[in-house]
Amino acid sequence: MRKMCPNCDKESLEYINKREKINIRGENIEVVAKYYKCKNCQEEFDDLYLKNDYYDKAYRKYRQEHNLMQPEEIKNIRKRYKLTQYEMSNILGFGEATLSRYENGALQDEVHDNLLKFISSSKNFLYLLNNAKKKFNQKDFSRIEKNAIALNNKKHSLYEEILDDISNYKEDILSGFKKFNKVKIFNAVLFFSKEGILKTKLNKLLFYMDFKFFKEFNISITGLRYAKLPYGPVPDNFGFLYNIMLANKLLDEKEKYYSNEIVGEIYFALEKPDLNIFSLDELENILKVEKIFKSFSATKIKDFSHKEEAWKKTKDNKIISYKYAADLNI
Ligand SMILES: [Zn+2]
Repeated sequence: MRKMCPNCDKESLEYINKREKINIRGENIEVVAKYYKCKNCQEEFDDLYLKNDYYDKAYRKYRQEHNLMQPEEIKNIRKRYKLTQYEMSNILGFGEATLSRYENGALQDEVHDNLLKFISSSKNFLYLLNNAKKKFNQKDFSRIEKNAIALNNKKHSLYEEILDDISNYKEDILSGFKKFNKVKIFNAVLFFSKEGILKTKLNKLLFYMDFKFFKEFNISITGLRYAKLPYGPVPDNFGFLYNIMLANKLLDEKEKYYSNEIVGEIYFALEKPDLNIFSLDELENILKVEKIFKSFSATKIKDFSHKEEAWKKTKDNKIISYKYAADLNI
């Protein structure tokens, strides 16, 4: 970094990290903030860029703790209905500028957040759209309505109906205090299988992804529950998950023979993952897990997972509690 120290005029600034408590709506949120420090005169500085960065982190943490949507999740709702910010704000009844600020990282009002969550169901969206009909010309209204109806009518396959049933569990320590999030699960699978991956390794990468994130943030990414099976921790009912993805042409399956008796399934992603649906912290965690286990064979990662408290302390075929995330070996 070639940056002049404002105090002594030497090019001797470096970054330092400091734990900082930031007051957000009356709560102290702790984040790691970056500062410049001068090696020559020992002065510390920040600037607008660094300040924005740690406020951004603090907001993300605050949203996570308060179950508010992250900016990219808000944006995704709008994209799903193929709306401009102007159109979306007409439907929601709050200003376009406000919506734009939320999508760019400003901390949202809780009432607005509830409204946004409300319209993530296309049925609710259609209800509000009809209330706002007078704000649109006929052509735009029909286009938006048509899109939303198509989303609403999307046929559920049998697998998906079953999955909806079996994933309808509580948000507790067994799910990492998160609601089952099919979209995040699918996209994580697409990410890990982009170059082809053995199913048994994929199961463990998902486990490490969620448990490592829980270790750091006390919440899981996908809301998946993991069970202890003989060959390691696996997503509960993973068969249904992968079958839905296979049926919807998101994944392809090939068999790999190791010897005459042993055969394993390799999954290949048929679509690119949408990584925008993850928060930056989540994405960073996913990339880390991928990197850590990049060179691990399925057997090596299995053996590695067998050394985890999470695996050792859980009875066979039982759900593994996220409380063991604290002892995770990565
Ligand atoms: Zn200096």
